[in-house]
Amino acid sequence: MIVDKNHKHIENEGQYKGLTVNSGIEQPESFCEDSIKRFLKNKRKTAHQADHYVKGIREGNITVLSQAVTLIESSKKEHQQVAQEIILKCLPYSGKSIRIGITGVPGVGKSTFIESMGKHITSQGHKLAVLAIDPSSERSKGSILGDKTRMEELSSDPNAYIRPSPSAGSLGGVARKTRETIILCEAAGFDIIFIETVGVGQSETVVHSMVDFFLLLMLAGAGDELQGIKRGIMEMADAITINKADGDNIDRAEIARVQYMNALHLFPPTDSGWSPKVLTCSAVKKTGISQIWETIHEYLRLANENGYFQYKRNEQAKFWMYETINEQLKTSFYQNPEIRQLLPDFEQQVLKEETSSFVAAKQLLDAYYQSQKEKE
Ligand code: GDP
Repeated sequence: MIVDKNHKHIENEGQYKGLTVNSGIEQPESFCEDSIKRFLKNKRKTAHQADHYVKGIREGNITVLSQAVTLIESSKKEHQQVAQEIILKCLPYSGKSIRIGITGVPGVGKSTFIESMGKHITSQGHKLAVLAIDPSSERSKGSILGDKTRMEELSSDPNAYIRPSPSAGSLGGVARKTRETIILCEAAGFDIIFIETVGVGQSETVVHSMVDFFLLLMLAGAGDELQGIKRGIMEMADAITINKADGDNIDRAEIARVQYMNALHLFPPTDSGWSPKVLTCSAVKKTGISQIWETIHEYLRLANENGYFQYKRNEQAKFWMYETINEQLKTSFYQNPEIRQLLPDFEQQVLKEETSSFVAAKQLLDAYYQSQKEKE
């Protein structure tokens, strides 16, 4: 395109016959430049802020790590931007920890166990991060895993970092935040990560999808309906530990151990080639703790040798990509102002049988797609 000083297209002159060039639309130059400048400035600011956090995290600074985790947990857009940048920059330093999921019904002794096992682990020179997934905290406005004074000894251990469950959002959202927090903790040099959850609902499936080893804590003689622990959860466990095997409970714990061992034999073989173990321990008396730690290592040796460890990590990475897409699409849909306005009305129409669920869903989705198009 040849344009002379007077903004005329000289290609249109006689000598260039056969070639017609139309004038373009006037561009709102200053606006474009301003918005690009603003965009670049924001980007630079975000990158600059992120660099500050990443530096602190890499130095193992717990205060900076906590602040970065708070950004991950925040729903503010500008916080999320910085958080995502931090995660991206921490990714190359992540992945080198052993991630262990711990579950069991309230009262089974999870906090006490984590404290005993945690001290055992840090005394061997490891750095331990304890994270939690407790979706109940949103509804009850008081987290089972966050409220009480827990793990006092471990909290003051310089080699341990304890972070209660993020409290807002859906299980999927809480889980994503925890997974992102794992990345930051690993970049900060924590080589063992515990993820604790209450064994009563869906959350253990989510925890299972982000850990290398899954430990289920149980009690002896607490009723054989498996203490509300569903069969599916037992099937996910790489080890079951009967806790509170102390005092006059030792014999009962041993009987329970044999019973659970027999129950596990009835389950189909695992993909990892590992036979899940059943052990006993006393979190209070600190007995049986080192055997559990040794069992975890035995599993890791096997899973590393036969390639299952990496296979599972890859599968989990894939799973989380789809989970993140699903979660963000859902959020984008339900937070769309037009959809929020339309939803109650459509709900009523479905209840009054004026329309079917599927037609209503389709119309709402169409309205959503249309509003997205208009935004472009
Ligand atoms: P959580 O709700 O699963 O986190 O359970 P806690 O760790 O808070 O423990 C619940 C209760 O069980 C507390 O009173 C603990 O002191 C007690 N407890 C935990 N572990 C043991 C144990 O190994 N032996 C005995 N006797 N009591 C225990």
